[in-house]
Amino acid sequence: MAYMALYRKWRSQTFDEIVGQEAVVTALRNQIIHDRIGHAYLFCGTRGTGKTSMAKIFARAVNCLHPVNGNPCNECELCRESESGFNLIEIDAASNNGVDNIREIRDEVRYTPAKGRFRVYIIDEVHMLSAGAFNALLKTLEEPPEHVIFILATTEPHKVLPTIVSRCQRYDFKRFTAGQIFDHLKEVCEAEGIRATDDALRYIARAADGGMRDSLSILEQCVSFYVNEEIDLNKVQEILGTAGAEEYARLTDALAARRAPDALRLIGDIFMAGRDVSAFTTGLISHLRSLLLMKAMGRDGAAILELGEEEAAALSQQADHLPAEQLTWFIESLTDLESRMKYSSEKRVLLEVEIIRLCRGASETTDEALLARIAAVEKRLDEGVFVQKEQSKAADPKPNAQKAAPPPSLEDLPKIRQPKMIMTSGGAAGRAIEAWAAIKKKIISQERGLYTLNLMEIAPGADPDQIILSSDTEFYIKQLEDDHGRRLRLIERAIEDETGAKVRVLARKKSVDPTPDVDMDDIVGRIHMDVEFTD
Ligand SMILES: [Zn+2]
Repeated sequence: MAYMALYRKWRSQTFDEIVGQEAVVTALRNQIIHDRIGHAYLFCGTRGTGKTSMAKIFARAVNCLHPVNGNPCNECELCRESESGFNLIEIDAASNNGVDNIREIRDEVRYTPAKGRFRVYIIDEVHMLSAGAFNALLKTLEEPPEHVIFILATTEPHKVLPTIVSRCQRYDFKRFTAGQIFDHLKEVCEAEGIRATDDALRYIARAADGGMRDSLSILEQCVSFYVNEEIDLNKVQEILGTAGAEEYARLTDALAARRAPDALRLIGDIFMAGRDVSAFTTGLISHLRSLLLMKAMGRDGAAILELGEEEAAALSQQADHLPAEQLTWFIESLTDLESRMKYSSEKRVLLEVEIIRLCRGASETTDEALLARIAAVEKRLDEGVFVQKEQSKAADPKPNAQKAAPPPSLEDLPKIRQPKMIMTSGGAAGRAIEAWAAIKKKIISQERGLYTLNLMEIAPGADPDQIILSSDTEFYIKQLEDDHGRRLRLIERAIEDETGAKVRVLARKKSVDPTPDVDMDDIVGRIHMDVEFTD
């Protein structure tokens, strides 16, 4: 049986099936019922809000031989053949941004469709059209033939020429609420025989950040990782690379109480479980923001965050004993850390140093020796120099740095290499890598599914205009390359938008290094004795 992605399989086929977007549905449906069909529509909204589904339903409805209450019947000849492209033409402006494509359309529109009343053009990501193509399109929109309908879809309406916008009926698509997404996921799970806890689905619904399509992709990832198993909250967090609310809550308490050893131990446990440092930091920030919002707004905060009863209660209880100033300070410091982390291969060190700094806070009760060591690590990190000291003093473990297993002796460690510094030696790739933190954030805000970029490394490629995104996880690579590399192109465009640099982005599985990387975590765990930093 041919495999079909959940979001395709569950694409709405009629106006009645569409979740949310009531205003748009009502307006379009009425136009069909009263036969007051326009010639140019502009659908605006972030990814996954159903613009394309809506456009296709509308396109079938205008030609349908037996519409039912404005819905396409999906059974008549014209409905059934709509996907074959004779009177419904889809153009992805992201890949066809040339003026030639639009000229082709201009020539084509003169002919009446062979079947049905209208020929419908859906131009996706219309803001990507080149200036020349925009102008060619404008000419067509100025005098559209009776039998032609344009549906332009965009995630960035501000980039569409005002002269084009003014010729279209504009419809704004709202992001889905977590509640709407949750309900839909539940329906999908029931119909597909997927077992998943409500907790898990609620978490996915929030992680998808208003995008129905992304929520289904996340669900699908979970299903394909845990075939025939029940999907619970832990599994979802595992897939998303995030830690649980409880872990964040405990860490926050430790930070607030300035218990550095507790905080570091918690972090140690979390990373032992294989969590990603960047994703963890992002999750921690988001937990702190939720606390701040709950503190500032109480019940309204819970509504804004779309929290379940229990979660809201837990957060507000924790928020009660934390001063807003402290939360704000944590958030600011960690957000700053998050961006510094992007280019460092010593992410965990940075996080641990920051945790200690936060615990140090205004408090005077700090271990002088520890501070000195931290200062030394920071200095060395800044300089990018780690040198192994000849003499091991590993036989002298500090009481609070004990681990379950005794640490291996220094001789057992592979040779310590210089920390990898990302070369940003100017050039297009260099500019892109320097601005990667901001670019990545933007990309993920457009396409939540690309949170996986947080789990990938970025490095310059062989050519000066080449960038390589790499990971050990096959799935992340595949996600970028799928769909004819649509996501890679999206990243390239985001880079160009942000920096003006034209680069080629490739996704690669991380090659296995013959000399295994020294785990910086180990080193830090043993900073106090095993490794010293010398000039
Ligand atoms: Zn029909």
